Amino acid sequence: MTGFSLRGTIMHTPERGTCDVVERALVEVGADGAITRVLKPDDAEYETALEEARTAGRLTELSGNQYLLPGLIDLHIHAPQWPQLGKSLHLPLYDWLQNCTFPLEAKYADTAFADRVYGSLVSSLLANGTTTAVYFATAHLEATQRLADHCIEKGQRGFVGKVVMDDPEQCPDYYRDASAAQALDETVAFIEYVRGLDGNGSELVRPIVTPRFIPSCSDDALSGLGAIAHDHKCHVQTHCSESDWEHSFVLDRHGKTDTQSLADFGLITRHTVLAHSNFISDPDMDLIGNVGAGIAHCPLSNFYFSNAVFPLRAALNKGLHVGLGTDISGGHSASMLHACRYAVAASRALEDGVDAALAAETRGRANARIDFMEAFWLATAGGAQALDLKVGRFAPGYRFDAMLVDAGVEDSSLLVWDDLDTAEDVFQKIVYTAERNNIRKVWVDGIIRLDKTA
Ligand SMILES: [Zn+2]
Repeated sequence: MTGFSLRGTIMHTPERGTCDVVERALVEVGADGAITRVLKPDDAEYETALEEARTAGRLTELSGNQYLLPGLIDLHIHAPQWPQLGKSLHLPLYDWLQNCTFPLEAKYADTAFADRVYGSLVSSLLANGTTTAVYFATAHLEATQRLADHCIEKGQRGFVGKVVMDDPEQCPDYYRDASAAQALDETVAFIEYVRGLDGNGSELVRPIVTPRFIPSCSDDALSGLGAIAHDHKCHVQTHCSESDWEHSFVLDRHGKTDTQSLADFGLITRHTVLAHSNFISDPDMDLIGNVGAGIAHCPLSNFYFSNAVFPLRAALNKGLHVGLGTDISGGHSASMLHACRYAVAASRALEDGVDAALAAETRGRANARIDFMEAFWLATAGGAQALDLKVGRFAPGYRFDAMLVDAGVEDSSLLVWDDLDTAEDVFQKIVYTAERNNIRKVWVDGIIRLDKTA
């Protein structure tokens, strides 16, 4: 592989709150999958670089209907819940877990079942432009290994975690780790498996230490996982202060918030992703911010299971690392573009308030809204910052994870009016109206992983 160049309109949000749209940009990608140059038509080297790429036969030109955007980063997704997408959303969190989700997740004792689901899931996410996914798998070691295998085979960047859930009080007999010791041993075995996988030399897929959430885990498991994350230099993910029930449960059990408790177990690091965090306090935010841990904001799932909207603006104002998650199947969409839309809607609901019976001035929280540019930043550069990955924007040294969005497809929900829409209008329209069938090509690490243009 000698690298390649793409010329066309690029759209990305390298800085939160602004967008960068360049028409006729020339993006050069090296043989190793990293971006080497991003040139604008008025750059001095542009014409020479263009001619060289053309002569060498490594230039691809996008058509006028096509736009190149960074691949999307899903910071929170439960892979085994894929068959449950769009079901059981009328239940409260505790009932949903005990009556629907745990019985489904228990089925992954069967690796053939895992193969069937995980193959479908990874393909569907790539087709939705998700180039990086941060996965909870199940408590089963073998099935979790299969999820890592599917990411490697299909070329999706992934963080995969064997879920730890060993507390007999909260986890059913038919689906839990036999003991804290076994859960820790299997977590280490999984880390070693992923790091030794054939074809994973570039660490496309990484293990992530995954206590389900405090209520599912014994203190022994939590402290052991903190030590493993430290000793094996691993990312960490868990749920944090998601709902009234979950937040109160931890306050009752440990006499402190999820954030404080997780920190005491060594589970809040620069490489931790905390899902939800809707009920975090100001001191919690300061703790998370000081360490540089990340938050996976899952706006759609929050409407169903969280009893409240995440204080996104407050977190961003404090400089916290925040990205977006679909939280399949707590959320009913696999699309990170949908997650952007829900994030905007949730922020608007928080700002205005939702109960018309209240006076306007007491109904909401002032200055809470975000716009489409901040939403897209969360789904790309923001998620990358949370994970400490060089993806999510078009700049030299960043991995080329990207998607080609085409407004010219049949039955397009994305409609561009050449005489009415500026390039920035088109960017906004992509964030709000593009769907899976507009995404025609997806690259991860400089390699084409999905191609509907052929
Ligand atoms: Zn979750």
